[in-house]
Amino acid sequence: MRGFYEQQAKHYLVEFDHSTLEHNSYLEIQVRIGDDYYTVNTWYAPPYREADWDVLVVLAVSVSLVLIVIVVLWAMRSPRIERKCGQCHRWIPRAWNPCRHCALTGHPARLVVVEGESKLVGQIYFVRRDSTTVGRSANNGLVLDVPGVSHRHAGIHEHNGRFKLVDYGSLNGTHVDGARISAYYLRDGDHVMFGPVRMQFRLETG
Ligand SMILES: [Zn+2]
Repeated sequence: MRGFYEQQAKHYLVEFDHSTLEHNSYLEIQVRIGDDYYTVNTWYAPPYREADWDVLVVLAVSVSLVLIVIVVLWAMRSPRIERKCGQCHRWIPRAWNPCRHCALTGHPARLVVVEGESKLVGQIYFVRRDSTTVGRSANNGLVLDVPGVSHRHAGIHEHNGRFKLVDYGSLNGTHVDGARISAYYLRDGDHVMFGPVRMQFRLETG
């Protein structure tokens, strides 16, 4: 039977401009032979197709918008619900006082802000066992980003359980209970001033 059809086959070329056809168009071609009509059905489904730039542009714009929203939300969250820890420099919830990351290291000595910038009052900082530098620069162990505090203001060094406070030549000085000091061994309850920031030194014993 196959040979019969091949023998009878007549080939005609029907040309379409492909730009007038949608991808996967359903084509119905009528062939008239004498008074009879025959219908031939086929799909226009080219194997290769150029990238659909409209879709790509819409996709790129959508992804960009989502990224912008994420960045804006990230930038907005920090001052309202989080703050940067002045000691470990991590973003932590505002309610954490003292910082729970810093508390894990179990320091016996603390400094509590009693006077200075309103956002700092009540803030609890730990004094590290070896040494803690205090100042405005971000590389200090305890960052006090407050006008009047020197970039590298003072340091607290621990020797055999005693905490020695040393002024590093700060502009506005370091004061303990009203007196300007260059070096001083801190006692529990002392009030220390680094420039305009007053802090109380607390030492847990036992
Ligand atoms: Zn911390």
